[in-house]
Amino acid sequence: MLAFLLLFVFSCKDDEPVDDVCEKWEYEGVTGPDHWMSLCDDYADCNGIFQSPVNLTGALFDASLKALALQYTDLETDIVFNGHTIEFDTEKGNSTLNLNGASYKLLQFHFHTHSEHAIEGVHAPLELHLVHQHVATGNRVVVGVLFEEGAENAFLSAFMDHLPTSSSPHYESSEQYNPADVLPTNRSYYTYPGSLTTPPCTQNVIWYVLAQPVEASSEQIHHFETVMHENSRPLRPLQERAIRFFEE
Ligand SMILES: [Zn+2]
Repeated sequence: MLAFLLLFVFSCKDDEPVDDVCEKWEYEGVTGPDHWMSLCDDYADCNGIFQSPVNLTGALFDASLKALALQYTDLETDIVFNGHTIEFDTEKGNSTLNLNGASYKLLQFHFHTHSEHAIEGVHAPLELHLVHQHVATGNRVVVGVLFEEGAENAFLSAFMDHLPTSSSPHYESSEQYNPADVLPTNRSYYTYPGSLTTPPCTQNVIWYVLAQPVEASSEQIHHFETVMHENSRPLRPLQERAIRFFEE
């Protein structure tokens, strides 16, 4: 019986998510981005040579690139504040991105203030990341959307009253929305191979950062800043990688 109990305890421990057995990471101080790689063995990739975000500059036009094949469908609203970002859970939906014959499922999208990527050295006040994953390989495709200050954003407006905070971290509703409504009309993009921008910084991400920003009002941007605070990883060196550009 004891052996069985011990087995149970140890097998549970194996199932614990990485974050529970690693030191908590933050965006500043002794657990900030410069120290992520030393907080946990599983965060070794944070020191790798294919890290994100990067400054998008020197991009090469590539005629072999294709338009993003996004197939997004309506789904119910499920939003959390996880302590670092405001995240819309889309796993229950059936939205996909198809790339080179493979289907990547949209798992979630979330926000960063200010933007993580820069275009020609210039950051935007807000960036959205749509995270897709290939079920069999675990490889990811993340689509980045930059927000510039301007007119009120209609997509965000529908959720502003319900965005979670640290004191009220979860909002669920049967109200349906389509994630495609947050995208700009023009889908020209920069693409490069990179990583997750938070620990464990896994280097299995193909990035597509859309060149055309969408607009959001200063009040909307300020609201995200107030809840999430500064949650932007500093730029990482491009190293030997090429950035390619697709013009729609
Ligand atoms: Zn992100």
